[in-house]
Amino acid sequence: MPPLSRLARPLRSARTWIVLGVLAPVGMLAASGLMLLDLRQDAWEKAEQTSKNLVQVLERDIARNIELYDLSLRGVVDNLKARGLDQVSPELRQLILFDRAATAHDMGVMIVTDENGDSIIDASSVPVRKVNYADRAYFQAQKAQDNLGLYISQPLFSRLLGSRMIVLSRRINKPDGSFGGVVLGTLNLSYFTRLFDQIALGPDSAINLYLRDGTRVMRHPYAEADIGVNIARAATFRGFLRERSGSFVQTSVRDGIERHYSFTQVGDLPLILNVALSTDEIEADWRVKALTIGVIVLVLCGLTIALSLLFGRELRRREAMQAELERLSLTDALTRLPNRRAFEETGARSWRAALRSGKPLSLLIVDADHFKRFNDRYGHQVGDQVLQGLAQCLSDSVHRPHDLVCRIGGEEFAILLPDTDLVGAFRIAEKVHAEVSALAVGSAGIGAGAVTVSIGLAAAVPAATEVTALADLYRLADEALYEAKAGGRNQTRCAKAYDPAVAPLKHALRLMR
Ligand code: GH3
Ligand code: MG
Ligand code: MG
Repeated sequence: MPPLSRLARPLRSARTWIVLGVLAPVGMLAASGLMLLDLRQDAWEKAEQTSKNLVQVLERDIARNIELYDLSLRGVVDNLKARGLDQVSPELRQLILFDRAATAHDMGVMIVTDENGDSIIDASSVPVRKVNYADRAYFQAQKAQDNLGLYISQPLFSRLLGSRMIVLSRRINKPDGSFGGVVLGTLNLSYFTRLFDQIALGPDSAINLYLRDGTRVMRHPYAEADIGVNIARAATFRGFLRERSGSFVQTSVRDGIERHYSFTQVGDLPLILNVALSTDEIEADWRVKALTIGVIVLVLCGLTIALSLLFGRELRRREAMQAELERLSLTDALTRLPNRRAFEETGARSWRAALRSGKPLSLLIVDADHFKRFNDRYGHQVGDQVLQGLAQCLSDSVHRPHDLVCRIGGEEFAILLPDTDLVGAFRIAEKVHAEVSALAVGSAGIGAGAVTVSIGLAAAVPAATEVTALADLYRLADEALYEAKAGGRNQTRCAKAYDPAVAPLKHALRLMR
């Protein structure tokens, strides 16, 4: 078979199309699934990179500003040691002690206290505004520990200005090393609000600044209730303490929303900054895409499956129709027996099989006697009924599954008997005569015995005979039929051709008659 038609054959099968129609959508689904997973991965990578960059930029800004502010505080601590400072006027002392940092935006007050917490020097007021800070935790911490360095307080309300702020403080030592007070600078929380407000985030995402003890200093978007809350025991906060910087996904204790946290310690300060992006918001765009692509792919898959099922059904119908046409083309319409074409095809197969097996093959040609008279006397329709009756008689005379009874044409039939020798075939011929002798068409007044047939019989062993083709066997049987007709009809004649393989059988037959 040429390669092209070998390829085309499975394409004509309904099953191939149904299998393709199911496999193609499965492939389509797998490919789009992989693509969607890839898109989701991209969304996450983008979100992670964005929040990492944000954390870095914000951290640098906060660390730098607090460092500058701390430099001013250190300046005050150092300058307080200058000799003769207590002899100069308050205005001059103010100029010597404080640089311009205290006047920067979002900086509140910068004040020096004595060891009792009373304000003694004020960066922005002469005379000094009288306030006592002895009760503040940062004052007590600086008093208790002489090497605390820069101390950042919890979020507080300013006693002088009333605003929300944190206090940065450093300890002042007397010349003998004992506690001499603190210098404190306040940083308004508005600094963080302004810094964080520049960043557009989804409604469920946030930026947080914590003290290392778990106190929230600032949250964006801002809510008053969030400021000063301690979340030291939350899983998220324990995560922030584990490393200097990093990221993880965790559900927030504040509102139960799952977020991706990017966090870092702010410089060397006891502050932790994080950008927390809601996982829903990270995946929001991707979800819309996934839904759209998913629906389109599912519809396409459904269509593909439906179309291939329809196509498969149509192909099946066509195959069935072809099979029916094939069957009809091999069947005789009147008697429902296989026709001459079927006889030729099946006969050739039986011949080859007999040739291979070395077994005998017999052929009977059965012809109705004086059939023309039936037509003339009873009409064509009755003639047809007689032919149908004859077909039944012939079918009833054979029993083996491979025996073949056909209508060769007109009132002539053939019976092909594989694996049957002359004796066996003769028996079948006798059976045919017996069946036909009982044939009657009551409606037309044709009684039993009115219809007779003549039979020409030929048998051969294809592997061991001069009979080389089915056509030869047919010719021999036809000659025998002619003899039967000539011999008076209603009888069987066997082919005269000498065949060593069937000769003993012929002898046997003669004995039988
Ligand atoms: P013989 O004994 O010599 O065979 O005589 P016969 O009349 O049977 O043979 P002949 O060949 O002279 O005539 C055959 C007749 O069979 C002629 C035709 O009208 C009839 N015949 C052939 N086919 C059909 C058919 O399908 N239906 C009917 N009713 N008659 C048919
Ligand atoms: Mg006839
Ligand atoms: Mg005839």
